[in-house]
Amino acid sequence: MDPGASSSIERRPTRRIMVGDVPVGGGSPVTVQSMTITKTADVDGTLAQIYALAAAGADIVRCTCNETEAAEGLARIVPRSPVPIVADIHHQYKMALAALEAGVACLRLNPGNIRRPEHIKTVAMEAKDRGVPIRIGVNGGSLDPKLYEKYGGKVTPEAMVESAQMELAYFEEVDFTDVKISVKASNVPLMIEAYRQLADVTDFPLHLGVTEAGPLPGGYIKATAGIATLLAEGIGDTIRYSLTADPVEEARAGRQLLEAMGLRERKGVDLIACPSCGRAEVDVIGVAEAAQKAFGERQIPLQVAVMGCVVNGPGEARDADLGIAAGNKRGHLFVKGENVAVVPEDEMVDTLVEWADYIVEHGTEAALERARHTKAEAKKAAAEDRARNLGDRGDDANDSEAVVELIRKTI
Ligand code: SF4
Repeated sequence: MDPGASSSIERRPTRRIMVGDVPVGGGSPVTVQSMTITKTADVDGTLAQIYALAAAGADIVRCTCNETEAAEGLARIVPRSPVPIVADIHHQYKMALAALEAGVACLRLNPGNIRRPEHIKTVAMEAKDRGVPIRIGVNGGSLDPKLYEKYGGKVTPEAMVESAQMELAYFEEVDFTDVKISVKASNVPLMIEAYRQLADVTDFPLHLGVTEAGPLPGGYIKATAGIATLLAEGIGDTIRYSLTADPVEEARAGRQLLEAMGLRERKGVDLIACPSCGRAEVDVIGVAEAAQKAFGERQIPLQVAVMGCVVNGPGEARDADLGIAAGNKRGHLFVKGENVAVVPEDEMVDTLVEWADYIVEHGTEAALERARHTKAEAKKAAAEDRARNLGDRGDDANDSEAVVELIRKTI
């Protein structure tokens, strides 16, 4: 478990493997993976993408190794990469041997398209000699045709698990057990069930993913539904969002999911914001988006709230480290629910960023102390604006009662 993580999820015990210097399984923090979409032969372009993925939260990055030029590219990429590189292999077992020669930290083999036992065993023996792990990457869309037929022309969880077990059996014949496994499918219930069944029969670490989850935002939803369900059950040691989008989105989504589930220590801002309603005194969506942009990828591990009104905002976000609520064209800033300052509406975002930096550097107590001369005035101003809002809009800011009255008159 990540030392700074806060989850109470009991994780399934698994063996630990090392992907380069990154542990996977055996109680180590759940890791985030992504994959480059450049030609691997384009060394500088691929490295630029790897650095962007690492900055967005990827712990491990996979690159395709589909041709000799790609393997040569890997030889140049691996020594300069900030994170361990996995080579993705399909169809050509010789590309796996070339990737090992290039020094990759892990291989991904698809049992659906490298099927000759002697080829599988040759790769496993070479990986074993070099101390390099292999992911058995079963994919519902490219299942071994024999298994497909055996299970009645359908991709079933049982067929996917059997595919992984067949591959494992070949590996075990050459005494190779440095393995992690994935059984991905684009169908979320199928993927969930396949991983559950796999988790019941093996203690190898599992790599989770919903394959071909598609463009945003549907891709986020499908991938999160599958991955988060399993993680909540304690299943899964490393994850990848397979999105039809800039791969930086994959790394960011993976990292954010793990932070949201308390499985990784928070690195970036956890920006919370109210959904807005008839009582809002500012464009909450606009301010929240501006705040999100201003914080960007900065490492500010705080929960920061943007709230549309001072009536309910400070109370509802009292657990946030820092927040701002709109009222009477002003922003009421609060630290741990305590009013500390009042700023003009157009300075709300800049003020949040400035105070967030201050808290990260000096701590919450120091921030409250910083506000010792402004606290009383800020509290009074918030009370005035709260009373003003309630006076103007009453208790029923969304006019529900007026609508109810109208309905009663209509029927
Ligand atoms: S009551 Fe205030 S804080 Fe709650 S949703 Fe409406 S504007 Fe936001």
